[in-house]
Amino acid sequence: LEEKLREVVDQPGVTLDGVRVPILANIEQADDVDAVKACGAEGVGLFRTEYLYINRDHPPDEEEQFQAYRRVATALQPHPVIVRTLDLGGDKFLSHLVPQQEMNPFLGWRAIRLCLQQPEMFSVQLRAILRASAEGNVKIMYPMISGLEELCQANELLETCKDQLRQRGVPFNENIETGAMIEIPSAVLVADALARRSKFFSIGTNDLIQYSLAVDRMNERIAHLYEPTHPAILRLIRMTTEVAERAGVRVSVCGEMAGDPVLIPLLLGLGVHELSAAPPVVPKIKYLVRRIRMSEARDLASWAIQQESATTILQRCEELARQAA
Ligand code: PEP
Ligand code: MG
Repeated sequence: LEEKLREVVDQPGVTLDGVRVPILANIEQADDVDAVKACGAEGVGLFRTEYLYINRDHPPDEEEQFQAYRRVATALQPHPVIVRTLDLGGDKFLSHLVPQQEMNPFLGWRAIRLCLQQPEMFSVQLRAILRASAEGNVKIMYPMISGLEELCQANELLETCKDQLRQRGVPFNENIETGAMIEIPSAVLVADALARRSKFFSIGTNDLIQYSLAVDRMNERIAHLYEPTHPAILRLIRMTTEVAERAGVRVSVCGEMAGDPVLIPLLLGLGVHELSAAPPVVPKIKYLVRRIRMSEARDLASWAIQQESATTILQRCEELARQAA
């Protein structure tokens, strides 16, 4: 198998029946770009930018961030690099923004909420990403969008940042694409509205599962309740892809589900267009995608969406994975 995995590194993600499924990588710092290249990922589907901010006294300035984003974008050109704006809070520790103790950090002051309340800090990041977009295929993704207003506010601030760069005479891609993470159930329910203001969606299954099943993703005592194949999760994914399809918005999955070989046929069958996973699993995911028939994946998903038990669905997925291996 090792040999076979090496063979797919230079080949595109495409199913046996010819449906293109780009496989991208999730990264946490600019240094990860070498691993992205080595694993054969077709771009970065999730650049988690938190690591630029944690364990230090001051947030990184525009220049430092610009250099980090630019390094990745130029190295991977012409592949896309989706930079996710700051997703601090929740499990990601803030050292310079010392927060008040929160009763429910995952329901608290995190990600886009924190950024919209700290517009100066947020603008620094947006300008840095914009500047990198002049040198590569850079896109912007907002985390933890719960409704249309947050998306509009973020995009308004982005327009202000574009104006500032224009005034400074600094180049950027005027048509930079922006997208929303779909990781809160309310975002799924208003996905039609979000789709009108987004070029793409990326489903963050880690948080989507946590929030829709009310299961803390870090709590081992209830880990058995954290079920990616829960019928509710499949329905939420399906609702997202259906709305997106009608609106012409592309959907990727960048949560851990996209890195689980067993779940790949199910995700593709549910209408997901792209996958983004950690570099070490990218070759395996691509290898698998190249052995899947989209027609069979759709049959699997149509069957699964009617089931009542997460275990039944998971067992069927495992059975198919054994046959495909
Ligand atoms: C997710 O929630 O699935 C996701 C990709 O974001 P993070 O794991 O960084 O919260
Ligand atoms: Mg998340």
